[in-house]
Amino acid sequence: MSGPGRSGPTGRRVEGLPVVAIVGRPNVGKSTLFNRIVGTRLAIVEDRARTTRDRLYATAEWNGRRFVVVDTGGLEIEPGDVIEAKVQEQARLAIAEADVIVFVVDAAAGPTPGDLEAAELLRRATAPVIVAANKADNLRRELEAAEFHGFGWTEVHPISALHGRSVADLLDAVVAALPPPTEAELAEREREARAAEAAWPATEDAGAPGDAGPPESAGATAEWTGAAAEWAVAAGEPAAIAIVGRPNVGKSSLLNALLGEERAIVSEVPGTTRDAIDTRLRWGESEIILIDTAGIRRRGRVASAAPAERYSVLRALRAIDRADVAVLVVDATEGLTAQDAHIAGYVVEAGRGLVIALNKWDLVEKTPRTFDEAVAAIRRAAPFLELAPVVSISARDRLRVGRVLELALDVWGARRRRVSTGELNRLVATAVERQPPPLVHGRRPKIRYATQVAVAPPTFVFFGVDVADLHFSYRRYLENRLRDAYGFIGTPIRLVFRDRAERPAGPEARRLARRR
Ligand code: GDP
Ligand code: GDP
Repeated sequence: MSGPGRSGPTGRRVEGLPVVAIVGRPNVGKSTLFNRIVGTRLAIVEDRARTTRDRLYATAEWNGRRFVVVDTGGLEIEPGDVIEAKVQEQARLAIAEADVIVFVVDAAAGPTPGDLEAAELLRRATAPVIVAANKADNLRRELEAAEFHGFGWTEVHPISALHGRSVADLLDAVVAALPPPTEAELAEREREARAAEAAWPATEDAGAPGDAGPPESAGATAEWTGAAAEWAVAAGEPAAIAIVGRPNVGKSSLLNALLGEERAIVSEVPGTTRDAIDTRLRWGESEIILIDTAGIRRRGRVASAAPAERYSVLRALRAIDRADVAVLVVDATEGLTAQDAHIAGYVVEAGRGLVIALNKWDLVEKTPRTFDEAVAAIRRAAPFLELAPVVSISARDRLRVGRVLELALDVWGARRRRVSTGELNRLVATAVERQPPPLVHGRRPKIRYATQVAVAPPTFVFFGVDVADLHFSYRRYLENRLRDAYGFIGTPIRLVFRDRAERPAGPEARRLARRR
């Protein structure tokens, strides 16, 4: 069932996380399944604040494999499509872009004509298709689900997304069907493993830490952590920037305006294949890779017009996965749409940097307050975008287009900022003094010390007693103090809270257990 060729119609898998698409007609339970998968993902090294309410894409992890789950039911593919057409569009999208397709059907209703149509299309997929016969809430329905074998796929899983029944088995099957991990995926895991290791400083075991504040040997910790954080930055790598956004917002125009700037020296065009053309350029002192995104065309290039190109959302997700910073181009005459907010939410979730470019500014009737009002409207529509710098541009008139790259480079730098443990702990001590954490179960959580364990995005671990129970608003308070002090423009930052008792398995944990 799995083979090297099943990587989308292009036969070439774009680097980034594999994509699992959930397909099916309305009301079969796609979004319920999506939420269950996302909700059951293992807590990895980071705590993630919820960014958007109704997410359509999210990163999930199961059996040690990470992948992007997409609820294709929510994708606004061709606005105004009738429902039947929508399912077909979803199926086409999944065929074009997904590494594994989960075809959800309703075991209570049995096969419907709509299911049959979707199945007909999905049979053309080279990616493995796994049928999830949902609403199999009881044994009888489970047995009835066997009907769906008639579609011709061997993998039919009766599940109940609502109650969680057999969803684990379904996920086992999904993960087993994923293509082997790419180099990039393996490298990322390696970095995370190192960062997690660094989150258990030897200093804590070596001596009795004071009741408050950093241990005496914080300096040594800082150095050590620094070395671990180094793993997150491959030396001398260019800043990878992806220009993303809905069709017609002006992405291609922006790209071409940038390449036409005097400061841009296009040094190389590597990886020129039919479906991905990254552009490498020098911008002053900086090396930049502009990551190719579906639907963006460089002037003078023959358009490949792959049929899949219309369905560009998943390609955009993959471009984001490969990028350090995403520039979200928004049409200023329309403001931030729901689809824009979804893409932006994905960028932030994926831990990437974000710059918002309000394009077509030339078409906007302006007063001195127009820009501030536009920014305020964006923040209102999506409060989690507060971190992203906004710039108004006109790709047509080449107004401030260079500023876009400069902001993206600032964000790139911010993602790599490192704060020494000593400095960090002074900041945390002051913050805690000014506003102590609220009581949890009648006790006051105590932060003993904090250390930065990774960059890109900056990740901080706070150790202490009962800190794992710290209220969200207090975590936010700490994050804001970090942002006030260090800026971190355009980049998510991650705060992880660990109670001292919560130790990793392994020799260190055993040593600690023996001491008790
Ligand atoms: P979507 O349109 O395919 O995304 O479907 P939803 O996830 O919105 O679910 C449609 C309806 O089916 C909702 O009322 C869900 O609560 C219900 N539903 C979803 N999964 C199950 C299930 O496993 N069992 C039962 N009985 N109902 C379910
Ligand atoms: P893409 O689909 O996001 O790559 O968008 P394009 O770059 O192809 O632009 C879509 C349309 O918007 C084209 O007709 C452009 O000429 C127009 N456009 C792009 N940028 C601007 C701008 O800054 N001002 C105005 N007035 N039109 C623009």
